[in-house]
Amino acid sequence: MLDRWNDDDAQAFVDRYAAAHGEALALRTYSARLFGAEPQLVLHGGGNASVKTVQTDLLGDAVEVCCVKGSGWDLASIEPQGFPAVALAPMLRLVQSPALTDEHMVAAQRAHLLDPYAPNPSIECLLHCLLPAAYVDHSHADAIVALTNHPDGEALIREALGEDVLLVDYVKPGFDLAAEAFAARPDVSAMVLMQHGLFTWGDTAEDSYRAHIALVSKAEALLAARGEAGIRLAPPTAVEAAQAQAGAFAPWLRGALNRRLPAGAARFVLHHVVDEEILGLVDDDRLARWAGFGTLTPDHSIRTKPAACVVVPGEDPGAACEAAVGAYIEDYTAYVDAQIARVGPVTRLDPLPRVVHVPGIGTFGVGTSPKSAAICTDIARHTLRTKARAEAIGPFEPLAADHLFDVEYWSLEQAKLAKGGAPGPFAGRVALVTGAGGAIGAGVARALRAAGCCVVLADVDGDRLEAAAQALGPGRDLATVVFDVADEASVRTGFDAACACFGGLDVVVPNAGVAAVGTLVDLDADTFASVQAVNATGVFLTLREAARTLRRQGTGGDVVVVGSKNVAGPGAAFGAYSASKASAHQLAKIAAMELASDGIRVNVVAPDAVFADTADGAIPSGLWAEIGPGRAASKGLSVDELAAHYRDRNLLRTGITGLHVGEAVVWLASGRAPVTGAVVPVDGGVPAAFVR
Ligand SMILES: [Zn+2]
Repeated sequence: MLDRWNDDDAQAFVDRYAAAHGEALALRTYSARLFGAEPQLVLHGGGNASVKTVQTDLLGDAVEVCCVKGSGWDLASIEPQGFPAVALAPMLRLVQSPALTDEHMVAAQRAHLLDPYAPNPSIECLLHCLLPAAYVDHSHADAIVALTNHPDGEALIREALGEDVLLVDYVKPGFDLAAEAFAARPDVSAMVLMQHGLFTWGDTAEDSYRAHIALVSKAEALLAARGEAGIRLAPPTAVEAAQAQAGAFAPWLRGALNRRLPAGAARFVLHHVVDEEILGLVDDDRLARWAGFGTLTPDHSIRTKPAACVVVPGEDPGAACEAAVGAYIEDYTAYVDAQIARVGPVTRLDPLPRVVHVPGIGTFGVGTSPKSAAICTDIARHTLRTKARAEAIGPFEPLAADHLFDVEYWSLEQAKLAKGGAPGPFAGRVALVTGAGGAIGAGVARALRAAGCCVVLADVDGDRLEAAAQALGPGRDLATVVFDVADEASVRTGFDAACACFGGLDVVVPNAGVAAVGTLVDLDADTFASVQAVNATGVFLTLREAARTLRRQGTGGDVVVVGSKNVAGPGAAFGAYSASKASAHQLAKIAAMELASDGIRVNVVAPDAVFADTADGAIPSGLWAEIGPGRAASKGLSVDELAAHYRDRNLLRTGITGLHVGEAVVWLASGRAPVTGAVVPVDGGVPAAFVR
């Protein structure tokens, strides 16, 4: 394992942080980041680190404290304030307290924080306090857990690491056994917790870090010496094929999961990964064994549950997903039932998998946000890889179900994941907006995202699309796909690509549109047809793929077509546009009739002249840039006067923005009222276009 310690970098942390936080905490922050930089040591909030030092409390008194990684911080990006300081002396008394409950422990830790607004210290805080060295580091190193999840784990660890390491039988993250072991061998500075991970400690950040890297390297060397059980990498062409299939497959899987959620629950999004390693692993005939019961370290069960689900797509991917998810639920329910017989009643977690391996396609993480889904795929990759590597030394023997259950259902661990409050109507929902590079599309995307949707922005123009994505601001909840709504094949592959982003769709907004100015006498047939191709055929093709995708999921959905005020109130010299938008309105009404039995609502919003996405006008309307001069001329105005003209002709004297259109889309798609086949004007009130 690479030793990342660098004196210059360490000094840079001291220069940056020592004045405000002290040198000890500056160096603690530095070496914690070194752990976080190595996924083979710690993943996503796993692992922790501490330093004992002296800080001043709110009364100005110097207090000996232990600064332990705080809950919610990741070692990879931790800052000094990510190490809440807890007074050391009361913690050392606390460990003596008989029958200390988890809740009591957390309350006592909070009560002795120097900063009452600091996050909770790690659940392994007391062990950090007990170990006498200044710096303590804890990881779930892949190589260490590969050796300890084995029937002869102790012998393997001894062979790899020698005698100067404490070995502690698995115990729910706590301190009793570890404290006993340490009392017997106070000379050592490392401890392996079986089926869990490694602790090292030292007087300096460097000593503890280097001891850790040296031991993990020894474990890796033993695995290598036993002959790595080869992970067979898949060929790049197979990876490309898997990538291409993921989007068509994902909605089947997402539907099989989301159909089983109670009404009102946040839905799941999926995170798909495939590369040569993942595909090699999921295509291996040993996959069922590796996906089966047992995590590398107990913490992972909180994120991924103790086992993964495997779907072999076959001829009928919908039936395959249904069967595999059904079987997973049965197994998981049986596991929880058996545990309830042991420990008494618990609040059951949903029985759905968080990791789904699909031979030929890759691995899907399942979560209520793109981030939580991606965390599951990262853990899944390390789990498969480490189990495959461990085959070199014999059978992988995970922690017993009783122990895994205790961690998975441990109230403190569940508290880490639970985010307060009931989910909003768009939690875990995915929206696709076409024409998202334009003013209306970007405004609609902004409104849907603000409401809680993950949003896939689509446009035919990649540059415009990127500009819109930039304007909306980066985030895991935003993705972009380039496709042409007027091209049948492009729409199909575009929907596949969109579904690959978050696993499927719940809201589709056919918005892409073009316009042409000219009286019917002057209009040539090609121009007329080109407007129809996007505004009418494009809406038809988008509606059709939307319906196919939503039906695969079987969880209903919403389509909101962006129509036009011009359908009810047409304007001269704008025939091609008005006729095409009339088609779009009519298609939406037909779709509302055809899709209602699938729980799919189809509505129309009818905006009047939108010149920009928001009042600040970050994204100007491309359509108006093109037709503005013609429309202005037909009204005897200059181009500069147009926006004011449209604003002042409506009852509310409001300039309509893309965001206004988006707010109407959000309301329609919220399902708060049983509305389908409706046209909702978003025009500030134009009596000539009142819907009759
Ligand atoms: Zn741990």
